[in-house]
Amino acid sequence: MSAESFAMTIDGRAVAAESTFDVINPATGAAFAKAPDCSRAELDEAVAAARRAQPAWAALPFEQRREKVAALSKILEANLDPLMRLLTQENGKPHGDAQGEIVGAAYYFMTAAQLSLPIDVLEDDDDRRTVIQRVPIGVVGAILPWNFPVLVFAFKVIPALLAGNAIVCKPSPYTPLTTLVAGKLLADALPPGLLNIVSGGNDLGAWMTAHPGIDKIAFTGSSATGKKIMAGAADGVKRISLELGGNDPAIVLPDVDVEATSQRVFWGAFANNGQICAAAKRVYVHEDIYDGFLKALITHAQGIKIGDGAMQGVQIGPLQNKMQYDKVKELTADCIANGYRMHVAGDPPTGAGYFLPITIVDNPPDDARIVVEEQFGPLLPVMKYRDEADVIRRANDSPYGLSASVWAKDPARAEAIAAQLDVGYVYVNTIHEQPLTAPIAGHKQSGLGEENGNVGLLEYTNARTITVRKRLAQAA
Ligand code: NAD
Repeated sequence: MSAESFAMTIDGRAVAAESTFDVINPATGAAFAKAPDCSRAELDEAVAAARRAQPAWAALPFEQRREKVAALSKILEANLDPLMRLLTQENGKPHGDAQGEIVGAAYYFMTAAQLSLPIDVLEDDDDRRTVIQRVPIGVVGAILPWNFPVLVFAFKVIPALLAGNAIVCKPSPYTPLTTLVAGKLLADALPPGLLNIVSGGNDLGAWMTAHPGIDKIAFTGSSATGKKIMAGAADGVKRISLELGGNDPAIVLPDVDVEATSQRVFWGAFANNGQICAAAKRVYVHEDIYDGFLKALITHAQGIKIGDGAMQGVQIGPLQNKMQYDKVKELTADCIANGYRMHVAGDPPTGAGYFLPITIVDNPPDDARIVVEEQFGPLLPVMKYRDEADVIRRANDSPYGLSASVWAKDPARAEAIAAQLDVGYVYVNTIHEQPLTAPIAGHKQSGLGEENGNVGLLEYTNARTITVRKRLAQAA
C-alpha cells in the first residue's frame, strides 16, 4: 500500500489532512505510517457532503439499496490480500486472523441481501388503516474500536446504508489505515458523500458526538467512552447505539469432555490475544474436573506460537497498543502482589513489540481485580465452583452483561442455565460462532441497542406511524 492511499474520503474525494499522526506496528513498537488527522473544518465538510447525498439515497427503493450494499462484498474480496497485510501491520493479528476478519466483513455485506425493512400494518379495515413505516434517521456518525477495524466498520456501514442513511465513519486512532483504504474502495462504488471516512484522535469522536449535522452515533468501544458519548449526545437528543465492554463468564459443567472443551474455551479466551468484546474473560469450572481442566488449558497454552503476525505459523500476535499492553501488565502485577497462583506459557519475542505471554490465574478470589475487571488481553482467571445456583449468581455479579458461554454434555441443561444469565448473547457448547443475522444487545453497562440482523437494522431508523381514517366523520 502506498502512503498516498492513507487519505480520508470526503464527498467521494481522497483528502490528505494538513496534519498527520503516527501509526505504530505493535509487533515492533515503531511507527510505520502516518494517518490524516481530521480538522474540525474537514469534519464539517464530511458531514455537509453526507447531508447532501442522503436524500437521493433514501429515495431509492429498499431493494435497490440492498442490492448495492450487498455488491460491496465483492470489493472487499477482490482486495483481500493487501487489506489483510495492512491489517496485520497496524493491528498485530496474525495473517490468518486478518484474512478471516476481511472475509467475515465481506460475508456480512452479502447477508445484507437477507435483511428487510417491512412496513407493519397494524390495522386495515373499512374505516381505518394504521401503518408503521421505518424511515432513515439522516446522517450516522460511526466510531470504531481497534480490535476489529474492518468487521465493526461493516457492522455499522451495512445497516446505516440499508436504512437509507449517509455515514461519516471514524476508525480508532490505533488502527485507522485498513478502514481508510477499505472505506475508499467501497465509497468509490457509491454516490459521492454517502460514505465518508475521517481519521483522528479521541477529540474527533467527541466533535462527531456533538456535531449538529450528525443525527445518530453508532459506537463500539469501551464502556467508559460509551458513557461520554451518551452525555455528549444528550444535547441534540441524538439517537445512539452503544456496543461496549464485557466481562464474559464461561461456565463449565462437570460432565464435559475435558480435552475438547478446554481447547474450545482456550480459544474462546485467547483468540485475537483476548481482545474480543465477547471473549471468555472469567472461566468457572466445576470442582470435580477443575484440576484436569486447568492442566489442559495450560497444556494448550504451552503449544502456542506467539510472535509477529506477519510471520508464518504465528497463532497469537502482540497486544494491539501500548495502553492495552500496560493495562494487562498492571493487572498481572496486581495478581503477583496478591500472591495468586499463576501459570505462564508461550515464549513471546523480546524487544520493543507489545508482546506478553499467556497467563492463567489459578482460582483467584471473586473480588480479585482480574475477576472483576475486563482484562482484554492474554490473562485469564479460572475459578472453581460447586453449586449451579451459586455459579449463576457469580456469573451475573457484574456491572457488565455482554455475553457468556455454558459448556455441558447435555445441551438442554446448559440452555436452562443460559436462560438465567443476564447477558445479551449466550453461547452453548460453542463461542464466537453465530448466524450472521443474529443480533447482540449488551445488558447493563455493556451497551444500549441491538447490533446486526433485522432488529439491528431498526436501530438505524425512526418509526413513523400513520393512521388514516378512510371516511371523514359527518358533522352532527
Ligand atoms: P475506546 O472507547 O477507547 O475507543 C473507541 C473509539 O472511541 C475510538 O475510535 C476512540 O478514538 C473513540 N473515542 C475515545 N474517546 C472518545 C470520546 N470522548 N468521544 C467520542 N469518541 C471517543 O475503546 P477501544 O479501546 O478502542 O476498544 C476496546 C473496548 O471496546 C473494549 O472494552 C471492548 O470490550 C469494547 N468492544 C466492544 C464490542 C461490542 O460489540 N460490544 C466490540 C469490540 C470492542
